[in-house]
Amino acid sequence: MTVTTAGPPDDDVLDVVVVGAGVVGTAIARELARYRLRTALVEASADVGDGTSKANTAILHTGFDAVPGSLESALVRDGGRRLAAYAAETGTPVEPLGALLVAWDEEQSAALPGLAEKAKRNGYDEASTIGAGELRAREPHLGPGALGALHVPGESIVCPWTTTLAYATQAVRSGVTLHLNCPVTGVGSVDGRHVISTGRGPLRARYLVNAAGLYADEIDRMLGHDTFTVTPRRGQLIVFDKFARGLVRHILLPVPTALGKGVLVAPTVYGNVLLGPTAEDLDDRTATGSTAEGLALLREKGRRIVPELLDEEVTAVYAGLRAATGQEDYRIHSRPGQRYVTVGGIRSTGLTASMAIAAHVVELLVDAGLTPGPPRTLAPVRMPNIGEAFPRPYRDAELIATDPEYGTIVCHCERVTRGEIRDALAADIPPATLDGLRRRTRARGGRCQGFSCGAAVRELFGARR
Ligand SMILES: Cc1cc2nc3c(=O)[nH]c(=O)nc-3n(C[C@H](O)[C@H](O)[C@H](O)COP(=O)(O)OP(=O)(O)OC[C@H]3O[C@@H](n4cnc5c(N)ncnc54)[C@H](O)[C@@H]3O)c2cc1C
Repeated sequence: MTVTTAGPPDDDVLDVVVVGAGVVGTAIARELARYRLRTALVEASADVGDGTSKANTAILHTGFDAVPGSLESALVRDGGRRLAAYAAETGTPVEPLGALLVAWDEEQSAALPGLAEKAKRNGYDEASTIGAGELRAREPHLGPGALGALHVPGESIVCPWTTTLAYATQAVRSGVTLHLNCPVTGVGSVDGRHVISTGRGPLRARYLVNAAGLYADEIDRMLGHDTFTVTPRRGQLIVFDKFARGLVRHILLPVPTALGKGVLVAPTVYGNVLLGPTAEDLDDRTATGSTAEGLALLREKGRRIVPELLDEEVTAVYAGLRAATGQEDYRIHSRPGQRYVTVGGIRSTGLTASMAIAAHVVELLVDAGLTPGPPRTLAPVRMPNIGEAFPRPYRDAELIATDPEYGTIVCHCERVTRGEIRDALAADIPPATLDGLRRRTRARGGRCQGFSCGAAVRELFGARR
């Protein structure tokens, strides 16, 4: 089991190097770990899941609204099923709430049967329309004027942070080497091998997978391809405090437009309510700040959907960047002659599709000549539960009796215990920052955003070995 954060990476020739440890790259690394291959996962940041994968709306989609026949449609459908099963196996928080696509005018109402038909063409048969009365019975706090909805019972909410960490942990436990703080700066070729320059020295590999998210086009250009450009599409979100949770029972989606999925109201697995995201095309791939205009737009839209939500306290705001490429599909390309696979343009569904993308990429590598040998069983993983739908340690009397650290609360807003923080700091892939610790435990993620517990959490973090 190897995770490195400094010093030169391995000098031996590897079978596969995967660039980018987001939800997609970690899923690919995990899939490759099924085989006796020498695989390395290389990440520019100090932690896994530190790019787009940490800042999304966390919906486990059915793919009902994808472009029928697209690669994305197939991979979202397959990936949704795979991730639901994987979440159950690993203890990753997931809640199958179902979604309602709410129609607010006659035009949207008229579009609902077509959307149900589209869902069928995407292989999803369970969507059905409901009228205004039924909708109000299901969502009593919905704003006035809703005419009906499309009910999509298969949509769920999931913990994106635990998902990425589970993939990465399982990959590392099963033999993949993870190099953090290791930005890829160039790719060359010597004696038929890729020579991958990184900020920590070179790596050599027979096969290369580019899962660099917002920078996948740049890695592509290092290998001589100029077929797409990533335009970051910012999505700003507002997180409402847990007191708002009783206002929303389903994932409330708008009827989609050409501009995308639109602004939703959805519960989170941590007990909050999300409002967002915006959709803003930018040039800056680092522009993850929130803006007054973006938040005002969200509040305006949210007020129509669930008016009472806007009276609730806001816990946090954040923004993520989708890797838009001007094409409503993923940009997954294999170049067998180069023993290279690009996994680009993983836009607004990559969390859901991640496991299916990974299986597809391994097939592409095999088609390109990789001989993986017989599959083996992956090392098991069971993730700490940070969701509200399953027992949290502070409520588990038996656990506390065996280890009192689980009875000592450090972060009172989120009820995070010393035992959970201790475990996260000692885990296979420990957090590199306080935000990484928050994504593993929820500590400092509640209504006071660390005002009360910050000093204690910092002390525990600082004392880590
Ligand atoms: C607002 C918003 C809402 C969304 N909602 C949903 C949703 O509800 N459901 C869903 O399924 N999906 C959703 N998505 C999409 C999903 O979050 C993304 O598709 C997914 O996170 C993409 O993962 P990734 O691994 O491709 O990219 P990333 O998570 O960005 O990972 C790429 C990694 O590559 C690393 N990297 C880049 N360049 C280099 C380099 N040169 N060397 C080494 N490493 C490098 C980066 O540091 C990064 O960690 C949403 C996205 C946004 C922005």
